[in-house]
Amino acid sequence: MPERWRYDDTMKGIERLTIAVVGGGVAGLGVAWRLAQAGCAVTLFDAGQVPSHNGAATWASAGMICARLEMVDASPPMAAFALSARAAWPAFAAELDRSAGMSCGYLERGALHAFFGRAHAPHPGAGVERIDRATALRLEPGLADDVAAALWAPGEAQADPRWLVLALARACRAAGVTVRAETRINRLLEAQGRVTGVLTAEGPANFDHVVVAAGAWTTGLLKVSNLPGPRLRPVKGELLSLAGDRAVMPVTRLVWTDECYIVPHGDGRIVVGATQLEAGFDTTLDHERIDALRRSAERAVPALARLTELERVCGFRPAADDGLPVLGGIGPQGLTLATGQFRNGILFAPLIADTAAQHTLQGRLPDLARPFAAARFAEAAA
Ligand SMILES: Cc1cc2nc3c(=O)[nH]c(=O)nc-3n(C[C@H](O)[C@H](O)[C@H](O)COP(=O)(O)OP(=O)(O)OC[C@H]3O[C@@H](n4cnc5c(N)ncnc54)[C@H](O)[C@@H]3O)c2cc1C
Repeated sequence: MPERWRYDDTMKGIERLTIAVVGGGVAGLGVAWRLAQAGCAVTLFDAGQVPSHNGAATWASAGMICARLEMVDASPPMAAFALSARAAWPAFAAELDRSAGMSCGYLERGALHAFFGRAHAPHPGAGVERIDRATALRLEPGLADDVAAALWAPGEAQADPRWLVLALARACRAAGVTVRAETRINRLLEAQGRVTGVLTAEGPANFDHVVVAAGAWTTGLLKVSNLPGPRLRPVKGELLSLAGDRAVMPVTRLVWTDECYIVPHGDGRIVVGATQLEAGFDTTLDHERIDALRRSAERAVPALARLTELERVCGFRPAADDGLPVLGGIGPQGLTLATGQFRNGILFAPLIADTAAQHTLQGRLPDLARPFAAARFAEAAA
């Protein structure tokens, strides 16, 4: 785990530093919380409610904290970042729960990737074991009878993404963050090579530093501000949730199949996901695809068929062209980006908050985050 940044001489006067954070998803709330804890005067803006319900990736997310099963094909820097984020989660969750006075739904129960019929479990990677049918059924008795084998990743975890952002919003307010919901940032203001503030419908507001954590909308905001930026696109994800009974859950831990994943949360809600589509910002739900997810989940855990469906939602994952996170500065001074987490923004949450806060306060990223520096897009364009 990287060392948390510490107060040093480069940070003198931070208690007078005024910071605008754009975006009230997991990234923006996490950075705002860390900066307020460091003593800065932080104002967080979101175009929607805080936390935002409409298209924000965080609200739609499943909440898996999977540094193994999600990283099978990841590059070494990405895999290292994922493991480090996973290692940071227990302390992050404990501190957040304390600060917010509520649980963020963090659970360490591991994850099973189940294979049915004649399918064979592939070779397991590090931190993952291949287990036989009997062991899989012992771990998760609700699996369909013809489960043939499984991969078992005991170190995987999960959080409830909705409890997580509710907790972060409470922790932010408790730490002194001013939260401006339903206040869209129309443009960033710039003068003499420095970002100087933000423009809302109410007019300009000056800040010493601006953090943009606007998820899939980040590129659009930088473009209308005539600022250089990464090429990020929205990758739409749809999922459904089922009403489980906490006392008799048909599935108790995270289950993957080749067609879907099933995430049982602490309040009984069971999330089944997810589609992955390049469809711009279109919020129309494709019910045939979501029906197919539900059938796949029932194939894996038959008792899910008895549960009532609660909702179907979609959100937009922020994806850079190279699929990597986008952190730190690009173009003018006074600007930090915290985005590009794509499928892993919940897993990465503790590190995104820390690294973007460090960049804001000290102008540098820790070694672990340097491969994800936003400046790589300026270099590519030059
Ligand atoms: C279906 C689905 C399932 C997922 N499952 C997982 C999972 O299991 N595990 C995992 O780690 N990750 C998962 N992800 C990915 C994860 O949800 C995202 O990577 C993460 O939530 C991104 O968070 P964010 O704060 O950057 O963006 P968002 O949550 O999208 O927040 C961005 C916010 O910025 C606001 N905003 C945008 N423009 C402006 C503006 N101009 N002014 C003011 N506000 C603005 C928006 O209103 C929004 O609230 C999933 C994503 C989806 C869609």
